[in-house]
Amino acid sequence: MADAIAVLNAGSSSFKFSLFALDGEDLAVVARGQAEGLNTSPRFVARDGAGATLDEKAWGEGVKLGHDGALDHLVGFLRERLAGHRLVGVGHRVVHGGTEYSAPVRVDASIVAALEKYVPLAPLHQPHNLAPIRALLQRLPQLPQVACFDTAFHRTMPPVAQAFALPREITGRGVLRYGFHGLSYEYVASVLPRFDAGAARGRVVVAHLGNGSSMCAIADGRSVASTMGFTAADGLPMGTRSGSLDPGVVLYLMDELRMDARAIEKLIYQQSGLLGVSGISGDMRALERSDAPGAKAAIDLYAYRIGRELGSLVAALGGIDALVFTAGIGENSASLRQRVCGDAAWLGLAPDVQANARGGPCISTPESRVRAWVIPTNEELMIARHTRRTLAGGSG
Ligand code: AMP
Repeated sequence: MADAIAVLNAGSSSFKFSLFALDGEDLAVVARGQAEGLNTSPRFVARDGAGATLDEKAWGEGVKLGHDGALDHLVGFLRERLAGHRLVGVGHRVVHGGTEYSAPVRVDASIVAALEKYVPLAPLHQPHNLAPIRALLQRLPQLPQVACFDTAFHRTMPPVAQAFALPREITGRGVLRYGFHGLSYEYVASVLPRFDAGAARGRVVVAHLGNGSSMCAIADGRSVASTMGFTAADGLPMGTRSGSLDPGVVLYLMDELRMDARAIEKLIYQQSGLLGVSGISGDMRALERSDAPGAKAAIDLYAYRIGRELGSLVAALGGIDALVFTAGIGENSASLRQRVCGDAAWLGLAPDVQANARGGPCISTPESRVRAWVIPTNEELMIARHTRRTLAGGSG
């Protein structure tokens, strides 16, 4: 019987899961899927590594299944349908590890309690990340669980990159730039030597461009700066998030538009970014298909902000050897990559138009001073690797 590791990435009303079989050094996908609409119209689907459906269930409109009910279904599915595998651990994506956790950690009730401290720092994500850990601790107390943090990879950022220019007592409360998407950056950094060994030892900017978008400056494999800060709302515009705002805008919204914290939260997390600017959609594919002026304005602003942040991250690195694109937009939108690389000509980046249209992996010309790459991310695999290493007694 093969050992297997499950990976869970839980959000407010959904979770994604993957099951990896341990095969020597390899981790092979046995099943992956998701449960969605947990409190409105729950649906569960699981597919095998080749994409064939293994299990599908819909509970119907108005059913409140919740995380616990969906987890019960997942555990039942794993028991029945994957009887040839023995589950040896579960790895969880946890958005916030604060200043304390710079590596994955095996969780028990006391660690979950410690991680609760970070709920105020990530109220939209942390409670949902912790809920399935707690539920599994109750249901299957013997099953080892590992928390893998989106902030951990960025703990190597120098203090000056973590600080806001705020009074010390506020900074002392943990109001710092943490950076997110760390599991994605860590994965990309782990495979970059196969593509570009020189850059992997040098200065790289990775652009994780998806529904959530951020960029990270990496020197010799370690994060030194991120566009995301205290929360995952900072930096680049995203599908529905505003990205960086002048703090004066928030004061204006409160004073003049009489918006309270919850209304502003909704505005900056759910109604802004590509969706807000275009007035059409937060989905890049829909915008690229559209002729509407709003769609063009949204893509223009997105590309412009990526270019500005690139300059800032190159300054933090003191130069750049390679630019890497990853995540849904970064991996799939040749036109966006072409624009970003074209705008980066001043850095010595010469895009290879044909290679970019083909999707890379190398999308710069042989003469280009700065190399550009398309490297698919794999956060689930990173979590599975961390889980295996942590359970084997390694440092994650
Ligand atoms: P992610 O959050 O990484 O899944 O990325 C989701 C984003 O990737 C959405 O904005 C999608 O529209 C975008 N995306 C996915 N495929 C494509 C594609 N072929 N062309 C342009 N954008 C895409």
